[in-house]
Amino acid sequence: MNPPPPSFGYADVGVLKKYTCDAVIVGAGAGGGAVAKVLSEFGLNVLVIESGPKQSRFRPNYAHTAKYHMQEGGSMVAKGSTFMPIAAGKGIGGSTLINSALCFKAPDTVLNNWSGILKDERWSANELMPLFEQTARYIGVSKTPKSIAGKNNDLIVKGIKSLGYNGGLAPRSTPRCVGCGICYYGCPSGGKNSVNFNFLSDAHKAGCQIQAEVHITEIHTKTKNNKTYASGVAGKSIDPETGKATGRIEVEAQWVILSAGAIGTPRLLHQAGLSNLLGPAVGSGLHVHPGSTLIGISDEKIEMWKGATQGAYYHPPNMPGVLPHTFSAPPEACLVAGGFLGDSFQEGLSLLPHLCGMLAMVSDKGTGSVGVRSDGRAKISYHFAQDDVDRIKQGLVSVSKVLLSGGAKDLRAPIHGVGIINDPEELEKALKKTSIQDFTLYAAHPMASCRMGNTIEHSVTSSTGETHGCNNLIIADASVFPTSLGVNPQLSTMVSATNIALMLINRIEATQ
Ligand SMILES: Cc1cc2nc3c(=O)[nH]c(=O)nc-3n(C[C@H](O)[C@H](O)[C@H](O)COP(=O)(O)OP(=O)(O)OC[C@H]3O[C@@H](n4cnc5c(N)ncnc54)[C@H](O)[C@@H]3O)c2cc1C
Repeated sequence: MNPPPPSFGYADVGVLKKYTCDAVIVGAGAGGGAVAKVLSEFGLNVLVIESGPKQSRFRPNYAHTAKYHMQEGGSMVAKGSTFMPIAAGKGIGGSTLINSALCFKAPDTVLNNWSGILKDERWSANELMPLFEQTARYIGVSKTPKSIAGKNNDLIVKGIKSLGYNGGLAPRSTPRCVGCGICYYGCPSGGKNSVNFNFLSDAHKAGCQIQAEVHITEIHTKTKNNKTYASGVAGKSIDPETGKATGRIEVEAQWVILSAGAIGTPRLLHQAGLSNLLGPAVGSGLHVHPGSTLIGISDEKIEMWKGATQGAYYHPPNMPGVLPHTFSAPPEACLVAGGFLGDSFQEGLSLLPHLCGMLAMVSDKGTGSVGVRSDGRAKISYHFAQDDVDRIKQGLVSVSKVLLSGGAKDLRAPIHGVGIINDPEELEKALKKTSIQDFTLYAAHPMASCRMGNTIEHSVTSSTGETHGCNNLIIADASVFPTSLGVNPQLSTMVSATNIALMLINRIEATQ
């Protein structure tokens, strides 16, 4: 295992620090890490800037994680059809520090749709599959071992197998996982291959510098022959303890690469005043893979917060774009997900060790937008498509069959008006009477908010990741996906960012 790369922190910035480099990358997550490795190994002088802390600070405590490792202190919320918290990580590793490491290749149909939209074969399934295989090997993806799966996953796998569904223990990038079940707080054992242990570590070996604890707020441009070019970025260093700005950083670079994530990248473009230059698609078309949860009760002691986080999945028959997988969370969140609040809180406490759970996530047709507030925080809206709501409900009915077949009973959902369920048909009937406003929701897969496409009216970048409106300004993170993905996005983000970085190298080589 590689050690995480060293980085500079806020204290190294002083009042003003200036850098000059070939390429500056904003954001040290899945996309930023992948680009940093490719460009550094090619020989460019690369600087990665990350707003999160220089060193990971993991503790099994939500408030602690929210403060140090979640963007905007874990307080991002999408408003629109309803109220939906949106999670995104920060630190050297970005969201991969706090994700549950499920790894799926993008479906062929999705990639071929992208290459059709983009009229560019370099995004087709045929072209990209070798890169998916290579990246999955590089980050150590393998099927969750039974020895660390834990009883929640065991129960789910039993249900999947007894129904003959296609699924089982899930592929995850956790080669040294000990099954402690707290991926969302950051991996305390070093068992998860977040990008600080691979892409960023290898980028550093190839000469890449990393400046943490700096939040970028400006993108600089210059004009040459009536064309606008990106020329650098600037921002402020932040003390992670106090959240206060301590100094200023200015970077001059030939290539400015935004990998700040599908919330962070459009937030920065708006804040930097580039939305007019880059067109109306900046921040639009946001997808989030919304979903909901069912909690069951088993006679057996399960302790659903133990074992591989999200270690099982299946493809429900005849439900394209619905992907159920394990729901696992700290005990307090399990109680909320099961609706054990108010009158039923005491009951929830006594049942807690016996709870088990699974969620149904959908590839969404609904969309949202990302803007910026006057204080620099993201302004997020999201509107559900009725088809997505219908498929979440169908997914939950399918999940109820799996949980009941696995040995659970008395299913509950964090959905107003749905009581205790022991029969999938009862659930279907109860869900028919609900609307999306009755659901308690949560989304952790923001994407497609600065999508690739062919025109500035409908997209932000071309199929090379370069923005239509500003030369040498490139986006390489989950925001460039042209559509919703349908599977957990970290692997596809790494592959997309690598693809974009390889295209940049080809371009540089062609001009040498
Ligand atoms: C709780 C949770 C669980 C998840 N589980 C899974 C899973 O099991 N499997 C899966 O495939 N995916 C999962 N995901 C999603 C996956 O981690 C992301 O899709 C992926 O990391 C996106 O990569 P990215 O590069 O677009 O953004 P990120 O990885 O989020 O990186 C963006 C980085 O940019 C930094 N940044 C933002 N703005 C600025 C700025 N202005 N200046 C400097 N730095 C900035 C951020 O701090 C962050 O570190 C999960 C996500 C979360 C939050």
